[in-house]
This record gives sequence, C-alpha cells and structure tokens, in this order.
Amino acid sequence: MKLFSDSQPFYKANFHCHSTNSDGRLDPASVVTFYQNAGYDILSITDHRTVTPPPPSEGIMLLPGIELDYNLPGQWVHILGLGMDSSIGNQWNRFGAPQEGIDLIRSLGGIAILAHPAWSLNTPAFMRSLSGLSGVEIWNSVSTLPLNGDRADSSSLLDTTWASGGQLLPVYANDDSHPYRNEAGVAATMVQSEDLSVPSVMEALKAGRFYGTTGPQIFQIENRNNQEIIVTCSPASAVIFYSDCPWAAGRAVIGTGITEANYFIQKNDHFVRVEVRDETGRKAWSSPIGIKPVRI
Ligand SMILES: [Zn+2]
Ligand SMILES: [Zn+2]
Repeated sequence: MKLFSDSQPFYKANFHCHSTNSDGRLDPASVVTFYQNAGYDILSITDHRTVTPPPPSEGIMLLPGIELDYNLPGQWVHILGLGMDSSIGNQWNRFGAPQEGIDLIRSLGGIAILAHPAWSLNTPAFMRSLSGLSGVEIWNSVSTLPLNGDRADSSSLLDTTWASGGQLLPVYANDDSHPYRNEAGVAATMVQSEDLSVPSVMEALKAGRFYGTTGPQIFQIENRNNQEIIVTCSPASAVIFYSDCPWAAGRAVIGTGITEANYFIQKNDHFVRVEVRDETGRKAWSSPIGIKPVRI
C-alpha cells in the first residue's frame, strides 16, 4: 500500500505561527507576506487564545487557527485548533481540562493537534490519556537554539509514547514563529491535497496525507504487506526506520545521495516511522505506520 498518491502535488504549509494579535512580532498581513515570500502555499496563523481573521491574500491559502494553552502540574499543554470557527475564543475555558479544549475544537468543526510535546514536558502517560487529537508536532522550530533551549524535536518522546500504547498520530513540522528571525521559514508540513481549497486541505489533514520536514523531501512510502517499507526521497545521507523495538537489523541506511531505501519489518515491530536526513543534518519525518496493535 502506498501512503501517498503518485499524481497529486505536495503543498508547502506552516500550521503554527503568531502575529501581533498575541505575542508575535509581525502583524497578520506581514506574517502572510513573510510566508508567501518564503514559498509556502498554506498558512495558519494560530494566535494564543484568539482566532485571527485571515487577512486578504492571493496565492496562499489561509486556514483559520488558534492555540489553546493549559498549565498542569509538571507540564504545560498547548493545543492547536485548525480550520477554526472564531467563536471558540469566547467558548474556551482556560481553567478547564485539555481534553475539553480538544472536544471544543472538534465540536466547532476544527481539528486538534498537540503542539511541541517535548518543549511542554508532556509525559507519555498524559499523552495516552488524550482522545480526539488529529496530529502532533514532531518538530517545532522556535523550540531550539538560539531562542528557546533545544527541545524542537519531539520524536524520541513520541516513540516512547507510541511504544507504550499511545495513539499513533500523524506528525507535523511547524515553525511556531514569534520573532520571525531564525525560526521562521525553517519547517514545513508537506500536504498532499487535491487542490488549495479549505475543504480539500482539511480532508487531507484528517486523512494524514502529509509529512514534516526542515529540508529533505519524501516522495513516496510504500508498506508492502506489513513486511517491508520502501521510501523514495530527495538525495539523503541517512534514512532511518524507527520502531518500538529498540534494536533491529538494517534500521539505518547510510550513504551519500540515497534516493531509495527499504526496511524489513521485524516481528516485534508494532509501528515503523521513517526519518530522512540530508548531508547538512536537516530532517524529514513520516507519520508512524501501524503494523499491529501494541499490547502492554
Ligand atoms: Zn505553544
Ligand atoms: Zn505557538
């Protein structure tokens, strides 16, 4: 089974950034111009606690969004709502439980994504307790040097969560732009959508037809009968097949200019995900591919 269509284009998207309507440096129109100039096709301005009305724009599709935040003992919880109705700002209870926020986003027709779990110190047990999420950020550009420590990459935490029975969620790579300096224009979620209309993009997000990247491209991933995973990609220096089994033969394919790599699924693998690295260390991440249910 192929995960992507061979005929549809991939659109370049950033589904997480801030404007002067919360704590971003640029006003909404300037945010749109920034991402348009950086070659993005789709953008969500996800201000904290409020839906910024999409400014007039041509040539870039705007998906209304919001970021909800909760402070729990020992961890913070930030949840993106994409495809949002602006009434959520009035209905949201910031002192409620994160699950209520997810449920509210869904009841208003949006999809809910857990933002930057490594930065937030989210625990696997907490993530396993959530239901109704449509995705999770595996990469969050602002959560790295020089701005904000170095917890941009949540992949290891997500592997731990999935290995212990957490719901396999499609992964996003987003900028979470605030100052619009080193962090903006770094990451993209590449969405395979029929066209650049809101219904088509929402359908693609719900179906998980995307991958995250800070540079390399993934063209196709094929799961051959839960026995072998084959990836085609832009020239890479490593293609790594991560799963919930700590050791596996052939997990890392290393070389120069790799454009195709394969992995034979091991009997203890319950999920496999693919990471592609180029020679400068930039990465692309596939969503986890479920092989069989985890029993714990
Ligand atoms: Zn956040
Ligand atoms: Zn944010």
